[in-house]
Amino acid sequence: MDSSQMPEDDSLHKCDSFASQHELTYHKQDLLISRTTHPQDTVIKIKDVTIGGNQPVIIAGPCSVESEECLLSVAQELSKHGVKILRGGAFKPRTSPYSFQGLGNIALEYLHNISNRCQMISICEVMDPRDIELTSNYIDILQIGSRNMANYSLLREVSHISKPILLKRGMGSTIEEFLYAAEYILSGGNSEVILCERGIRTFESQTRFTLDLAAVAILKKETHLPIIADVSHSSGRRDLVIPLSRASLAVGADGIMVEVHPDPPNALSDSNQQINFLEFHELLANILPFMKED
Ligand code: PEP
Ligand code: MN
Repeated sequence: MDSSQMPEDDSLHKCDSFASQHELTYHKQDLLISRTTHPQDTVIKIKDVTIGGNQPVIIAGPCSVESEECLLSVAQELSKHGVKILRGGAFKPRTSPYSFQGLGNIALEYLHNISNRCQMISICEVMDPRDIELTSNYIDILQIGSRNMANYSLLREVSHISKPILLKRGMGSTIEEFLYAAEYILSGGNSEVILCERGIRTFESQTRFTLDLAAVAILKKETHLPIIADVSHSSGRRDLVIPLSRASLAVGADGIMVEVHPDPPNALSDSNQQINFLEFHELLANILPFMKED
Protein backbone atom coordinates (compact mmCIF):
# COMPACT_ATOMS: atom_id res chain seq x y z
CA MET A 1 0.00 0.00 0.00
CA ASP A 2 1.52 3.37 -0.98
CA SER A 3 1.04 6.37 1.26
CA SER A 4 -1.83 7.79 -0.83
CA GLN A 5 -3.87 4.69 0.05
CA MET A 6 -3.21 4.91 3.76
CA PRO A 7 -6.19 5.81 5.98
CA GLU A 8 -6.06 9.39 7.18
CA ASP A 9 -4.77 9.77 10.71
CA ASP A 10 -6.45 12.80 12.21
CA SER A 11 -4.16 12.92 15.22
CA LEU A 12 -1.15 13.59 12.95
CA HIS A 13 -2.85 16.65 11.46
CA LYS A 14 -3.70 17.90 14.91
CA CYS A 15 -0.07 17.46 15.83
CA ASP A 16 1.11 19.42 12.77
CA SER A 17 -1.22 22.26 13.43
CA PHE A 18 -0.14 22.40 17.08
CA ALA A 19 3.52 22.56 15.98
CA SER A 20 2.95 25.44 13.58
CA GLN A 21 0.89 27.39 16.10
CA HIS A 22 3.53 26.78 18.71
CA GLU A 23 6.24 28.13 16.42
CA LEU A 24 4.12 31.13 15.60
CA THR A 25 3.49 31.91 19.25
CA TYR A 26 6.97 31.40 20.54
CA HIS A 27 9.40 32.96 18.06
CA LYS A 28 12.84 33.27 19.62
CA GLN A 29 12.84 37.03 19.08
CA ASP A 30 9.81 37.32 21.38
CA LEU A 31 11.64 35.90 24.38
CA LEU A 32 12.39 38.16 27.32
CA ILE A 33 16.14 37.41 26.97
CA SER A 34 16.16 38.60 23.36
CA ARG A 35 17.78 41.80 22.12
CA THR A 36 14.77 42.29 19.90
CA THR A 37 12.43 42.72 22.87
CA HIS A 38 15.06 44.64 24.88
CA PRO A 39 17.70 46.30 22.66
CA GLN A 40 19.68 48.02 25.44
CA ASP A 41 22.23 46.09 27.51
CA THR A 42 20.96 45.00 30.92
CA VAL A 43 23.12 46.68 33.54
CA ILE A 44 23.03 45.16 37.02
CA LYS A 45 23.94 47.35 39.99
CA ILE A 46 24.74 45.82 43.36
CA LYS A 47 25.98 48.31 45.98
CA ASP A 48 28.85 50.13 44.19
CA VAL A 49 29.39 47.39 41.59
CA THR A 50 28.06 47.53 38.03
CA ILE A 51 27.90 44.41 35.88
CA GLY A 52 27.21 44.76 32.17
CA GLY A 53 28.29 48.40 31.90
CA ASN A 54 31.30 49.68 30.02
CA GLN A 55 33.82 48.48 32.56
CA PRO A 56 34.49 44.70 32.63
CA VAL A 57 34.35 43.12 36.09
CA ILE A 58 36.58 40.55 37.79
CA ILE A 59 34.93 37.90 39.95
CA ALA A 60 37.65 36.15 41.92
CA GLY A 61 38.24 33.98 44.94
CA PRO A 62 38.87 30.39 45.89
CA CYS A 63 37.06 27.44 44.38
CA SER A 64 35.77 26.48 47.85
CA VAL A 65 35.61 28.39 51.10
CA GLU A 66 38.08 26.24 53.05
CA SER A 67 38.41 28.30 56.23
CA GLU A 68 37.81 31.83 57.49
CA GLU A 69 41.57 32.63 57.45
CA CYS A 70 42.06 31.35 53.91
CA LEU A 71 39.09 33.33 52.56
CA LEU A 72 40.19 36.49 54.40
CA SER A 73 43.71 36.32 53.00
CA VAL A 74 42.36 35.99 49.43
CA ALA A 75 39.77 38.76 49.91
CA GLN A 76 42.36 41.18 51.34
CA GLU A 77 44.70 40.50 48.43
CA LEU A 78 41.94 40.93 45.84
CA SER A 79 40.48 44.10 47.36
CA LYS A 80 43.96 45.66 47.50
CA HIS A 81 43.90 45.39 43.71
CA GLY A 82 40.39 46.80 43.27
CA VAL A 83 38.53 43.51 42.78
CA LYS A 84 34.96 44.00 43.94
CA ILE A 85 33.33 40.56 43.63
CA LEU A 86 34.41 37.73 45.93
CA ARG A 87 33.56 34.15 44.96
CA GLY A 88 33.79 30.99 47.05
CA GLY A 89 31.83 27.76 47.13
CA ALA A 90 29.94 26.75 50.26
CA PHE A 91 28.07 23.78 48.73
CA LYS A 92 30.36 22.10 46.21
CA PRO A 93 29.11 19.98 43.30
CA ARG A 94 31.85 17.30 43.34
CA THR A 95 32.05 14.34 40.99
CA SER A 96 32.92 11.98 43.84
CA PRO A 97 30.79 11.86 46.99
CA TYR A 98 34.04 11.26 48.91
CA SER A 99 35.65 14.57 47.80
CA PHE A 100 35.44 17.74 49.94
CA GLN A 101 31.81 18.89 49.71
CA GLY A 102 32.25 22.43 51.09
CA LEU A 103 31.75 23.83 54.58
CA GLY A 104 28.04 24.48 54.07
CA ASN A 105 26.17 27.19 56.00
CA ILE A 106 29.15 28.49 57.97
CA ALA A 107 30.87 29.34 54.67
CA LEU A 108 27.95 31.69 53.89
CA GLU A 109 28.68 33.58 57.11
CA TYR A 110 32.40 33.82 56.27
CA LEU A 111 31.58 35.12 52.78
CA HIS A 112 29.13 37.66 54.18
CA ASN A 113 31.43 38.99 56.93
CA ILE A 114 34.62 39.01 54.89
CA SER A 115 33.09 40.60 51.79
CA ASN A 116 31.62 43.36 54.00
CA ARG A 117 34.92 43.86 55.80
CA CYS A 118 36.79 44.16 52.48
CA GLN A 119 34.07 46.32 50.83
CA MET A 120 33.33 43.67 48.27
CA ILE A 121 30.15 41.88 47.23
CA SER A 122 29.84 38.10 47.32
CA ILE A 123 28.74 35.31 45.01
CA CYS A 124 28.09 31.69 45.95
CA GLU A 125 26.58 28.67 44.21
CA VAL A 126 23.30 27.22 45.43
CA MET A 127 22.40 23.66 44.42
CA ASP A 128 19.43 22.80 46.61
CA PRO A 129 16.19 24.83 46.58
CA ARG A 130 16.10 24.41 50.38
CA ASP A 131 19.32 26.50 50.66
CA ILE A 132 18.06 29.44 48.60
CA GLU A 133 16.48 31.43 51.43
CA LEU A 134 19.45 31.24 53.79
CA THR A 135 21.94 31.85 50.97
CA SER A 136 20.11 34.95 49.83
CA ASN A 137 20.19 36.32 53.40
CA TYR A 138 23.99 36.27 53.31
CA ILE A 139 25.08 36.48 49.68
CA ASP A 140 24.72 39.22 47.03
CA ILE A 141 24.65 37.10 43.84
CA LEU A 142 23.43 33.50 43.69
CA GLN A 143 25.16 31.19 41.23
CA ILE A 144 23.48 28.31 39.41
CA GLY A 145 26.26 25.93 38.40
CA SER A 146 26.81 24.13 35.14
CA ARG A 147 25.37 20.87 36.46
CA ASN A 148 22.10 22.60 37.35
CA MET A 149 21.56 24.80 34.31
CA ALA A 150 18.70 22.56 33.23
CA ASN A 151 17.30 21.98 36.72
CA TYR A 152 14.06 23.73 35.90
CA SER A 153 12.56 23.56 39.37
CA LEU A 154 15.69 25.26 40.77
CA LEU A 155 15.50 27.88 38.01
CA ARG A 156 11.86 28.57 38.89
CA GLU A 157 12.75 28.94 42.56
CA VAL A 158 15.46 31.55 41.91
CA SER A 159 13.15 33.35 39.51
CA HIS A 160 11.06 34.41 42.52
CA ILE A 161 13.83 35.99 44.60
CA SER A 162 15.13 39.53 44.44
CA LYS A 163 18.85 38.78 44.08
CA PRO A 164 20.86 38.72 40.86
CA ILE A 165 21.54 35.22 39.50
CA LEU A 166 24.72 34.16 37.71
CA LEU A 167 23.68 31.28 35.47
CA LYS A 168 26.43 29.03 34.16
CA ARG A 169 26.12 27.24 30.84
CA GLY A 170 25.59 23.50 31.12
CA MET A 171 28.73 21.70 30.01
CA GLY A 172 26.63 19.74 27.49
CA SER A 173 24.14 22.44 26.59
CA THR A 174 23.68 24.38 23.37
CA ILE A 175 23.52 28.18 23.31
CA GLU A 176 19.79 27.94 22.68
CA GLU A 177 19.24 25.68 25.70
CA PHE A 178 21.32 28.12 27.76
CA LEU A 179 19.14 31.03 26.65
CA TYR A 180 15.94 29.15 27.43
CA ALA A 181 17.29 28.37 30.92
CA ALA A 182 17.81 32.12 31.43
CA GLU A 183 14.28 32.69 30.09
CA TYR A 184 12.94 30.51 32.95
CA ILE A 185 14.40 33.00 35.43
CA LEU A 186 13.26 36.11 33.58
CA SER A 187 9.77 34.74 32.98
CA GLY A 188 9.36 34.04 36.70
CA GLY A 189 9.97 37.72 37.48
CA ASN A 190 13.71 38.00 38.10
CA SER A 191 15.29 40.10 35.36
CA GLU A 192 18.76 40.30 36.93
CA VAL A 193 20.50 37.41 35.21
CA ILE A 194 24.20 37.25 34.39
CA LEU A 195 25.21 34.52 31.93
CA CYS A 196 28.50 32.66 32.33
CA GLU A 197 30.23 30.69 29.59
CA ARG A 198 32.30 28.07 31.46
CA GLY A 199 33.41 25.65 28.75
CA ILE A 200 31.70 22.70 27.14
CA ARG A 201 32.61 19.01 26.72
CA THR A 202 34.32 18.26 23.42
CA PHE A 203 36.63 15.49 22.14
CA GLU A 204 39.70 17.58 23.13
CA SER A 205 41.70 16.04 25.96
CA GLN A 206 44.36 18.71 26.57
CA THR A 207 41.84 20.77 28.49
CA ARG A 208 39.11 19.81 30.96
CA PHE A 209 36.47 21.61 28.87
CA THR A 210 36.60 23.80 25.75
CA LEU A 211 35.96 27.52 26.31
CA ASP A 212 33.41 28.47 23.64
CA LEU A 213 34.53 31.96 22.68
CA ALA A 214 32.10 32.08 19.76
CA ALA A 215 29.30 31.59 22.31
CA VAL A 216 30.39 34.78 24.09
CA ALA A 217 30.19 36.71 20.81
CA ILE A 218 26.87 35.11 19.83
CA LEU A 219 25.33 35.75 23.25
CA LYS A 220 26.34 39.42 23.06
CA LYS A 221 24.33 39.61 19.82
CA GLU A 222 21.35 37.50 20.85
CA THR A 223 20.71 38.76 24.36
CA HIS A 224 20.90 41.95 26.39
CA LEU A 225 22.08 40.07 29.50
CA PRO A 226 25.68 40.51 30.72
CA ILE A 227 28.03 37.64 29.90
CA ILE A 228 31.00 36.55 31.98
CA ALA A 229 33.70 34.04 30.97
CA ASP A 230 34.90 31.56 33.57
CA VAL A 231 38.59 31.26 32.69
CA SER A 232 39.35 28.65 35.38
CA HIS A 233 36.78 25.85 35.01
CA SER A 234 36.74 26.18 31.22
CA SER A 235 40.21 24.72 30.69
CA GLY A 236 41.07 23.36 34.14
CA ARG A 237 44.64 24.64 33.59
CA ARG A 238 46.21 27.55 35.44
CA ASP A 239 48.72 28.14 32.61
CA LEU A 240 45.83 29.09 30.30
CA VAL A 241 44.15 31.61 32.61
CA ILE A 242 45.94 34.66 31.14
CA PRO A 243 45.47 33.92 27.41
CA LEU A 244 41.84 32.85 27.94
CA SER A 245 41.11 36.00 29.97
CA ARG A 246 42.56 38.22 27.25
CA ALA A 247 40.66 36.34 24.55
CA SER A 248 37.35 36.47 26.46
CA LEU A 249 37.58 40.20 27.04
CA ALA A 250 38.66 40.80 23.44
CA VAL A 251 35.62 38.94 22.16
CA GLY A 252 33.29 41.10 24.27
CA ALA A 253 32.81 39.42 27.65
CA ASP A 254 31.54 41.75 30.39
CA GLY A 255 34.01 40.24 32.79
CA ILE A 256 35.87 37.15 33.88
CA MET A 257 35.55 34.73 36.76
CA VAL A 258 38.85 33.34 38.05
CA GLU A 259 39.78 31.05 40.94
CA VAL A 260 42.49 32.43 43.26
CA HIS A 261 43.97 30.55 46.23
CA PRO A 262 46.96 31.31 48.52
CA ASP A 263 48.42 27.85 47.93
CA PRO A 264 46.79 26.15 44.91
CA PRO A 265 48.71 22.83 45.04
CA ASN A 266 47.21 22.25 48.51
CA ALA A 267 43.69 23.47 47.72
CA LEU A 268 40.83 21.16 48.68
CA SER A 269 39.26 21.41 45.22
CA ASP A 270 40.35 22.32 41.68
CA SER A 271 44.02 22.58 42.64
CA ASN A 272 45.23 22.39 39.00
CA GLN A 273 43.42 25.49 37.89
CA GLN A 274 43.53 27.92 40.82
CA ILE A 275 46.16 30.67 40.59
CA ASN A 276 48.23 32.09 43.45
CA PHE A 277 48.62 35.77 44.35
CA LEU A 278 51.69 36.29 42.17
CA GLU A 279 49.95 34.75 39.18
CA PHE A 280 46.92 36.93 39.91
CA HIS A 281 49.14 40.08 39.72
CA GLU A 282 50.47 38.84 36.41
CA LEU A 283 46.91 38.31 35.19
CA LEU A 284 45.94 41.87 36.14
CA ALA A 285 48.92 43.32 34.26
CA ASN A 286 48.03 41.27 31.20
CA ILE A 287 44.35 42.24 31.02
CA LEU A 288 44.89 45.92 31.79
CA PRO A 289 44.46 47.02 28.15
CA PHE A 290 40.98 45.41 28.14
CA MET A 291 39.82 46.89 31.44
CA LYS A 292 39.59 50.53 30.41
CA GLU A 293 36.21 52.19 30.28
CA ASP A 294 35.37 53.32 26.73
C1 PEP B 1 32.17 26.83 40.47
O1 PEP B 1 32.18 27.92 39.89
O2 PEP B 1 32.49 26.71 41.65
C2 PEP B 1 31.77 25.62 39.71
C3 PEP B 1 31.58 24.44 40.33
O3 PEP B 1 31.64 25.82 38.40
P1 PEP B 1 30.86 24.99 37.28
O4 PEP B 1 29.44 24.89 37.73
O5 PEP B 1 31.05 25.83 36.05
O6 PEP B 1 31.53 23.64 37.16
MN1 MN C 1 36.22 25.20 41.15
